Amino acid sequence: MSEIFENVKTIRARIADAAEKSGRRAEDIVLVAATKMNDADRVREAIAAGIDVSGENRVQELLDKYEQNAYDGAPLHFIGNLQTNKVKYLIGKVALIQSVDSIKLAREIGRLAVKAGIVQDILIEINIGGEESKGGIPPHELDAFIEEVSKIEGIFVRGLMTIPPILGADNKNIAYFEKMHKLFIDISTKKYDNIIMDFLSMGMSDDYYDAILHGANMVRVGTGIFGRRNYV
Ligand SMILES: *Cc1c(COP(=O)(O)O)cnc(C)c1O
Repeated sequence: MSEIFENVKTIRARIADAAEKSGRRAEDIVLVAATKMNDADRVREAIAAGIDVSGENRVQELLDKYEQNAYDGAPLHFIGNLQTNKVKYLIGKVALIQSVDSIKLAREIGRLAVKAGIVQDILIEINIGGEESKGGIPPHELDAFIEEVSKIEGIFVRGLMTIPPILGADNKNIAYFEKMHKLFIDISTKKYDNIIMDFLSMGMSDDYYDAILHGANMVRVGTGIFGRRNYV
């Protein structure tokens, strides 16, 4: 078996374990392969190995691999920082845009989706660690953001996403995961147009197990599936 197949198998087993420990089933957790810097052949291999979704985080890289039919056989999500002027390249190609963190961006997505005759599913990205270097809206602004975003035509909010701070030795991310889960539950109990809290996307190679224990039902794993990326 290839390395990618082995890795997906191992991750699936850990996902099943964490799901069971938190009172859910393995099938309740969506495994997104973070495919950045992996070529079309490796993406195809991951899909054959049984990941649920490909997640790309650069528009140009996505378009290159899209042309090579790299994503055939699994839905494609956009998970990276997105500039408003690049939205046009994604509409019609991605099932979910996970990284929406401004009203301006949400409006542009809605505008182009309406034009294309579709409704674009999105997640709202939260900056749970309050880091200046990261995208995402501050948790205390979420209610106001939701009010505003629920009025936009052409988009449907399906949940929340976060990239917490780099894991410290003290496993502090658990506190961030818990905070996210609480936000997710709070919003789920309220009624808004165009918003259903289906997905809580958090947890990467080093911490997806903990993320699931603390409420994630969508995890984004890169290194754990493909091995270390070679940055050139
Ligand atoms: C690269 C990436 C991941 C996966 O990171 P790994 O540590 O390699 O698992 C998850 N989410 C986003 C948004 C990413 O860009």
